[in-house]
Amino acid sequence: MAFNFLSGRDYLRRKKLRERKKLVSVALGFPDLVFAVGAIPVFPIRMESFKINTYLTALNSATSVLGWGLTSKVLDFARQFDVFKLVDKILEDVVSSINEKYNELYDLGVQEDLAEELCYGVKALYGMHKSKGKNVDANLNFAMRCGEWNKLSESLKLLVPNQIWVDIPSKELNNEDLALEQMVNNIKNAIEKLEALTGNFISDNSLQKQFRIGNQVKRFYKTILYEISASDFYPCNPATFAEILALLTITFQDYNSNPQRYLENISQIVKEMRKRINKKVGMDTSNMPRLLFSPIYAGYEPEIHEIIYELGGRTIYADWDILGLLEEIPVSQNSDPIEEYAKFLLNASKKGIGCDDQNMTDSYLTSAKNLEIDGLIFNQVFGCPSISSIYNNLMLKIKRELDLPATVITFKKIGENVDEVKSNLRPFIEKLRI
Ligand code: SF4
Repeated sequence: MAFNFLSGRDYLRRKKLRERKKLVSVALGFPDLVFAVGAIPVFPIRMESFKINTYLTALNSATSVLGWGLTSKVLDFARQFDVFKLVDKILEDVVSSINEKYNELYDLGVQEDLAEELCYGVKALYGMHKSKGKNVDANLNFAMRCGEWNKLSESLKLLVPNQIWVDIPSKELNNEDLALEQMVNNIKNAIEKLEALTGNFISDNSLQKQFRIGNQVKRFYKTILYEISASDFYPCNPATFAEILALLTITFQDYNSNPQRYLENISQIVKEMRKRINKKVGMDTSNMPRLLFSPIYAGYEPEIHEIIYELGGRTIYADWDILGLLEEIPVSQNSDPIEEYAKFLLNASKKGIGCDDQNMTDSYLTSAKNLEIDGLIFNQVFGCPSISSIYNNLMLKIKRELDLPATVITFKKIGENVDEVKSNLRPFIEKLRI
């Protein structure tokens, strides 16, 4: 999965130039319509070139020649001698290489005179389009109920003229039937534009095929979050485990442009994790508090899971679950896939990005309860008037209703306040470990 992320540039170039596929930029986890029309969704940072760790390239070649079973035996063998902390090292390199690039693209976004008060994620996404937007044939944008996000969408028009927008009906519209009708029409509009772009036709079958793959991906994702992360024995150290969750958060946005391969990768991750836990290869984490750290999708300090690990805790990243994007889309012979997709989007926008403070707070409480965490660390992103404003209320409710402690750290740019974060978290985690 990491290799597919980092080598995206070559893969996408091949798809565009040799196979004449249309590239459509996406973000936040909405690639389904693009796959269904036979185009290639891309979270635009993947068009950049990345430094790829030599071991990762070797590992990727090994899996294609030997298959996963044999490769993992070789890894187990290497691990016994602790020759090098192979997987830990690879993932650490992958995550830092992605984050270096994120900062570069954020800087590019800032130079472009985007309003100072916009959040890191919005600026970085703008920078990504500034850097590589010329390679995409369209941008598919779900106009979430976040003012900042929608300001970005306006600015993107200059970089990617072919904008395909799916508006989300206003939350003031207190009529569920009407909201559903509007949502269905908005999706149909976007489908028409995608069909015109590609010359392909989106059938009920192609949509349902995509939803089936997406549903399986979501099930595996939830298995990692709810079953494996709750286990008292981890298949690797908790910092590496958090890196896998971070990688899932970023790659879920476009499935690394290949849904079938992504599904195989995530199922392989789950299989490998379970096997290690059963064989007791990994780490006993029973005395380490589990801390939900969120939101991260719009930028966070990636050192955080190392810091938490050093202080004796485990980090859980679960943004897509909290924001309702891991809900499955019903697929049956009699269901109308466009209507089911409309319900999924309405549901996500009722409890996720840009919804009202009350619902957003409740989404956090539900996930905190279901994930059975020991505490919450809230990532207050500079320039976010939406999610960030819920913290005070969330802290009160999480204490009152779940009897869980919570704390907050602020984030503006990667690497800016690591020492401050460390000293803020130390007393919080020490208290939890008593
Ligand atoms: S909700 Fe906040 S963090 Fe998310 S895009 Fe909007 S401003 Fe950025």
